[in-house]
Amino acid sequence: MKDNDIVLLSKKEMPKKWYNVQADLKVPLDPPLHPAEKRPMTPQEMVAIFPMNLLEQEMSQQKWIDIPEPVLEILSIWRPTPLVRARRLEQALGTPAQIWYKNESVSPPGSHKPNTAVAQAYFNKVAGVKRLSTETGAGQWGTALSFATYFFDLKCMIYMVKVSFNQKPYRKSVMHMWNAEVIASPSDRTNAGKQILAKDPDCPGSLGIAISEAIEDTISHKDTKYALGSVLNHVLLHQTIVGLETQEQFKKAGVSPDILIGCVGGGSNYAGFMLPFAGETLTGGKKYRFIGVEPTSCPTITKGDYRYDFGDTIGMTPLLKMHTLGHDFIPPAIHAGGLRYHGMAPILSALVEQGIMEAQAKNQLPTFEAAVLFARTEGLIPAPETAHAIRSVIDEALKAKEENKPTVIAFNYSGHGLLDLSAYDAYFAGKLQNYEYTPQKS
Ligand SMILES: *Cc1c(COP(=O)(O)O)cnc(C)c1O
Repeated sequence: MKDNDIVLLSKKEMPKKWYNVQADLKVPLDPPLHPAEKRPMTPQEMVAIFPMNLLEQEMSQQKWIDIPEPVLEILSIWRPTPLVRARRLEQALGTPAQIWYKNESVSPPGSHKPNTAVAQAYFNKVAGVKRLSTETGAGQWGTALSFATYFFDLKCMIYMVKVSFNQKPYRKSVMHMWNAEVIASPSDRTNAGKQILAKDPDCPGSLGIAISEAIEDTISHKDTKYALGSVLNHVLLHQTIVGLETQEQFKKAGVSPDILIGCVGGGSNYAGFMLPFAGETLTGGKKYRFIGVEPTSCPTITKGDYRYDFGDTIGMTPLLKMHTLGHDFIPPAIHAGGLRYHGMAPILSALVEQGIMEAQAKNQLPTFEAAVLFARTEGLIPAPETAHAIRSVIDEALKAKEENKPTVIAFNYSGHGLLDLSAYDAYFAGKLQNYEYTPQKS
């Protein structure tokens, strides 16, 4: 590794404001609609679920929003994160392309998710909330929220998608470390869970179901609010610290990326990484290629419709205008649990519709192949979610080789895979398979 292959920022250089892309969107976002009456929701109607300060951020059109000092203080445990050139991967591919990654795996819970978990815990705390209820897929969001609530002295209740609950026991251990309560979803604690178990006792669960349970828990406890780890505007806002740092780091390196890549589940890590760059494009600056990468088993953008849909399975959440496979879609039990969500962040969906961002879908086996190559060149073991981005990076780097172009490719390394080793074991034992979603013809 050469001296300038790793670009660091000092604590002092940490961004002090989040970037709100809503201020720069040419076409404003379609508003969330009331689940039954299908008319725009008011913030007052959503205050049973979220505190007003976060709802204000959700709707804000203000371009820059201050990051409170207590949030910066906790983020500085691991931020700013490094921007690293993956030179050994470049060499293994024999590509003239440069490959850079922003390493969000260095946070204590191991992913980008605490960037918003810490902010959400803080804003709930100052709003007087005592307990947060949430869902978790692969367990990354649960670990991030348990970490954040612990530091702000809030209780934390986590509904964990059953397939991950069984596949990833150590994630539970991490959540227990920070005093969260964790149960498998669908559970018999909520009407939503009971309803689903009655129909299918072996239901592997899905993020949509777990969200229904976490919201029902919220509505039935007075001291409790709900926290969502992705999709919503305020979550993406909190993640923009990633892209803002990346912009500074590329300036320091004297390099400008051509392609920005990230995996997309609900869209938060990728949005956090790319939105500040998309802001340049939206305000007449450089045109980048933005590629969001999803699994072929849950191809929300590449095969879904762009329409209003519920965020959960039962239909309790406001309707969001987004790419969706349908709120009752239950994806197969692939190992990238964090990418098994039927919908997509309205902000990213809008950028796709406006032709600013594109999407690709990658299958499970080539994704693990890419992850193994990354681990054997760069030395880091990626989360299966992150591996989708790496598959796309490698494919773009190989294309650059064919065309003999020195393309600069950057991607968000959203998390490590050190708690996903059973998935790698299954891959090496030949037990993983590809999954292709085929849309139902009606
Ligand atoms: C949760 C998660 C994702 C997917 O969620 P987004 O909101 O799309 O970012 C991706 N990578 C990792 C490591 C995750 O934990």
